[in-house]
Amino acid sequence: MGKMSEYIEQAEKDLFHLYNRYQIVLDHGEGMRLFDIEGKSYLDFMSGIGVFALGYGDKKFNDALHAQVDKLLHTSNYFYNEPAIEAAKAIKKASRMDRVFFTNSGAEAVEGALKAARKYAYLKDGNTDHEIIAMDHSFHGRTFGALSVTGKEAYRKPFEPMIGHIKFATYNDLDSVKALVNDKTCAVIMETLQGEGGIYPASEDFLKGVRKLCDDNDMLLILDEIQCGMGRTGEYYAWQNYDVKPDILTTAKALGGGVPVGAFLVNGKVGEHSLVAGDHGTTYGGNPLAGAAISATFKRYEELDLLNNVKKTGAILYDALEEIKAGNPHIKDHRGLGLMQGLEFDGAVADIIAKALEKGLILINAGPNIIRFLPPLICGEAEVREMADILRECL
Ligand SMILES: *Cc1c(COP(=O)(O)O)cnc(C)c1O
Repeated sequence: MGKMSEYIEQAEKDLFHLYNRYQIVLDHGEGMRLFDIEGKSYLDFMSGIGVFALGYGDKKFNDALHAQVDKLLHTSNYFYNEPAIEAAKAIKKASRMDRVFFTNSGAEAVEGALKAARKYAYLKDGNTDHEIIAMDHSFHGRTFGALSVTGKEAYRKPFEPMIGHIKFATYNDLDSVKALVNDKTCAVIMETLQGEGGIYPASEDFLKGVRKLCDDNDMLLILDEIQCGMGRTGEYYAWQNYDVKPDILTTAKALGGGVPVGAFLVNGKVGEHSLVAGDHGTTYGGNPLAGAAISATFKRYEELDLLNNVKKTGAILYDALEEIKAGNPHIKDHRGLGLMQGLEFDGAVADIIAKALEKGLILINAGPNIIRFLPPLICGEAEVREMADILRECL
């Protein structure tokens, strides 16, 4: 028995089996490539679910982390620390939002966003029965608040009751949102480009329509950009492609370049009229290591000109996938923006993904019938061609 299968057997004895994992133990990475413990290399079009934007082993990023590890890892939020202050400056500049709260994960960012929205409404009228509109097929995380607004019943059902006062509308159907609005509605939460739910970008009419609906009814628009943010679509935040702005933004995944961090950000209005000291907190959020990781990530984005690279390589990926779609009757649709695209098939894609893995290509699904393309943002034309060749063989 190989070393790899020994580890896997051990893992299946010791770890809670909550994932049907690929039968591979990863060891290290370099650029767009990952290596397993037996030395086999893989071209990565998953980037740890959209986390490793900089690719693997970026020396300047790693050096910044090393320096902070040797200096100070944790202070608690009873003190200020320089890396978090620098990180806040960088994320505000990228998002043009007004205030930030750092978390340790995406789900925690969503929890904070929901609390800020409810508090905003509570301060307005003193009521405690406010409703939030969320979208079918959305994904916002696995904690109770985030799960309550996640539009997939199978994820919620065994854990009910959810937090309550949540209603689900149909994504990209403005009338379905309008139909749910009443004087108790305090917020709409949605992804600007749905990720786990199947790579559905918001249509411009929909996003602008929801924005206007929120403005007209003094409801807050929460955009969850945990997956589609941080340059995935060619702008730091996907809504920057649409000429709308959220009241509350959630971000995580690529934000820390691999270090587990997240954040929610609010505009001036919500910053002034929602959470106050004592309302919310975290032990680890915004610690110096996280701050250093966020600042170093933004710095590397600028140095590597990643947003422009996403625009360029995203267009190449788009054409490559269009070509594959044209030659395959089983492919029903091709959607996405930048380096977040999907191919929808007329049946399950698990076999295609398994075959690709054998051939040294890592892909990920988004629902049973959709292959999701989510490479590190350093991806270039050569890697797109290599991926497309392997995918063609697998089809
Ligand atoms: C991944 C994801 C989350 C949850 O983030 P975690 O860090 O896994 O808690 C929330 N929203 C969206 C859109 C995501 O893609």
